[in-house]
Amino acid sequence: MSVKKEVLLDYTKEELQSMIAPSFRAKQIWQWVYHKYVDNFKDMKNLPKEMQESLSNRYIINPLEIILTQKSIDGSIKYLFRLHDGHSIEAVLLLMKEKEYHEDGSIKHHERYTVCLSSQVGCKVGCAFCLTAKGGFVRDLSVAEIVAQLFMIKKENNIDANRRVNIVYMGMGEPLDNLQNVAKAINIFSDPDGFAISANRQTISTSGLSTKIEKLGKLDLGVNLAISLHAVDDALREKLMPINKAYNINSIMEAVKKFPINSRKRVMFEYLMIKDINDDLGAAKKLVKLLSGIKSKVNLIYFNPYEETDFQRPEPSSMIAFQEYLVAKGVLCTIRESKGLDISAACGQLREQNI
Ligand code: SAH
Ligand code: SF4
Repeated sequence: MSVKKEVLLDYTKEELQSMIAPSFRAKQIWQWVYHKYVDNFKDMKNLPKEMQESLSNRYIINPLEIILTQKSIDGSIKYLFRLHDGHSIEAVLLLMKEKEYHEDGSIKHHERYTVCLSSQVGCKVGCAFCLTAKGGFVRDLSVAEIVAQLFMIKKENNIDANRRVNIVYMGMGEPLDNLQNVAKAINIFSDPDGFAISANRQTISTSGLSTKIEKLGKLDLGVNLAISLHAVDDALREKLMPINKAYNINSIMEAVKKFPINSRKRVMFEYLMIKDINDDLGAAKKLVKLLSGIKSKVNLIYFNPYEETDFQRPEPSSMIAFQEYLVAKGVLCTIRESKGLDISAACGQLREQNI
């Protein structure tokens, strides 16, 4: 009978230090994994041979296997990973162009990596517009399965350990429905001896589980919050997002008001624009009211279509009119570029695939 191995990426550095003797070896292993992307103990050259062997018998390092890689014309890359039980999840590497404005008036352009990670196989929330929801809910991802998505993406692309990477929990699943594992992954990602991606470069996007937003706030991780609002009155929001029956707009706003945010940051409100459903200026007007008194920014998202849906992408002119209305009222508002549309890697287009 084979003994089930533990998965190294499930543990924080401190946990490994208490599990591995002598404990200084834990930091060496940690650096091999998180700086050099080594996922085989045999290649950890500064470990004694016997130790490499005993560790190999006890642990696997990385639980994911790449099944499929698709590259978009805009440079985004979508990965389909196989989990140990045969299920699959997706994660996306996005190349974002960023402008930096300097006091002398010059503008510097850089490219920044953003990685969109999954937190569950499927999702329980069941939003009407979301492809992930169509497959129902299968299970939560383990800590290692969350951490390994970024591990694999950095390894595959040979991304320098010092290169800036942002993380968004906007792939498959509702991150606050798997809060314990997501919170631990956030801590592992931010370890200065590891990926060193501080929590303020990580963003949790949620459909608005108010009680869990409060719980996340109490953990005080320093992570950014994005709320998938998408509708400004409860009747429409219930139709689009059935979870609104349990957590209505008011309860979300109350939870957001209590959420600790870094003084230089804002809570992001995502607003998915669907043609003739929520893209009118009446909605924009209500949105302004709803956000008054909250340090917020709005991100307008084009509905991304897929085969089995009747919803339609809005006209660019209605997106722009909506944005201009908000900006005129003093609300920060950007329009999210849809990355990876050609490979179905854009928001709401991720799903389990059987290949
Ligand atoms: N479950 C979380 C995070 C994953 S979804 C959440 O809902 O926030 C990430 C974002 O994609 C959410 O804002 C979601 O509403 C949006 N989304 C879902 N389906 C979409 C679609 N078809 N087109 C564009 N965005 C979509
Ligand atoms: Fe789940 Fe988010 Fe999709 Fe809604 S939009 S079904 S919460 S993944």
